[in-house]
Amino acid sequence: MAANPAPTSAAYDVERVRRDFPILNTTVNGHPLVYLDSAASSQRPLQVLRAVEDYETHSHANVHRGVHALSQAATAAYEGARERVRRFINAGSTREIIFTRGTTEAINLVAQAWARNRLGPGDEILITALEHHANIVPWQMVCEQTGCTLKVAPINRRGELEFDAFAKLLGPRTRLVAVAHVSNALGTILPVERIIAAAHAAGALVLIDGAQAIPHARVDVRALGADFYTFSGHKLYGPTGIGVLYGREELLTAMPPWQGGGDMILTVSFEKTTYNALPWKFEAGTPNMSGAVGLAAAMDYVETLGIEAIAAHETHLLELATAALTRIPGIELIGTAAHKAAVLSFTMQGVHAHDLGTILDSQGVAVRTGHHCAMPVMTFFGVPATARASFGCYNTEGEVAALVSALGKAREVFG
Ligand code: PLP
Repeated sequence: MAANPAPTSAAYDVERVRRDFPILNTTVNGHPLVYLDSAASSQRPLQVLRAVEDYETHSHANVHRGVHALSQAATAAYEGARERVRRFINAGSTREIIFTRGTTEAINLVAQAWARNRLGPGDEILITALEHHANIVPWQMVCEQTGCTLKVAPINRRGELEFDAFAKLLGPRTRLVAVAHVSNALGTILPVERIIAAAHAAGALVLIDGAQAIPHARVDVRALGADFYTFSGHKLYGPTGIGVLYGREELLTAMPPWQGGGDMILTVSFEKTTYNALPWKFEAGTPNMSGAVGLAAAMDYVETLGIEAIAAHETHLLELATAALTRIPGIELIGTAAHKAAVLSFTMQGVHAHDLGTILDSQGVAVRTGHHCAMPVMTFFGVPATARASFGCYNTEGEVAALVSALGKAREVFG
């Protein structure tokens, strides 16, 4: 790891950014909050809170169904948010942007509407050993439903994908490759361009779980060539309960609807029901309009700061924290990939991660402890759990120092 961390850009004014997040002024156990849990859920800036409040105050009604003015305002806000998402990830059309509850629902949608309808015995789905449960369990369910097989590409002790082993697992039976863009448990950035190229060469489709990548990297789905790309609003400084499935139009068109109900139909009779066009075919029921509006505002916010500037700032903090934690006796970093995003997982010798988390919390430092919905990763590294510090656009060097100092205190407490 870098002994001399890359400096953050002088133009990036983190104190200015922090003023947009009033929750960061919270005091916890008599200490200023040090929020290092953005990988679980990031905080929302005033710009997002105000956009949601403005929608709820002035524009709310049900969408798509009303001729009255408020319904039209709500529809314009909701469909405007879809266009905002399209631009953010450079999709070719809003027909390719399906609003979901989050990454989990987006992956389940593909599992049930694409995989369940197409796969059978002899077919294979290939994932990696570092996936979040949201990118494991839906495929296991499809395997139970269809008789297809789940294959898992291995990782090494640094938490990197063993690419050659991955490539060997690809073959004519592989129908779908589903991989994280960034690992939530380890911070590893996966070589998704190479993965997509290799999978396509083998004739497989590719789903990228972008939940941890979207807040840290510019995602251009067309340049990437992914067939499906999924993410959640709440990890991108937006609201909970809103997320996105991007899918290539040709694939989405050929997929049957997943859930049935209002909004996803054109006509209903007891004899025959016909389905709505994309993207509404996959959005049964009243959608999360205020969530979509908040997500669009979050994307505006991120673009105002500049995703590259945010990423450079976070990389600086990650390198600083990595160097500092490496010097603390008894701390072991879990996940030391050459290419990492803003996640630092670690254990402290002789201390359960939950006890460590409690001691850190007593000093106002919020980190996540547990298996991070990635139990196979914990099993691979032979640990029941880790503590995980993760960085967002608002974290500071001072907060890295607070983490290091709190870990020093924990060391004293636990001897
Ligand atoms: N995939 C990854 C890599 C994640 O980190 C997460 C959440 O932590 C998810 C999927 C699931 O996201 P959500 O709970 O927002 O659906």
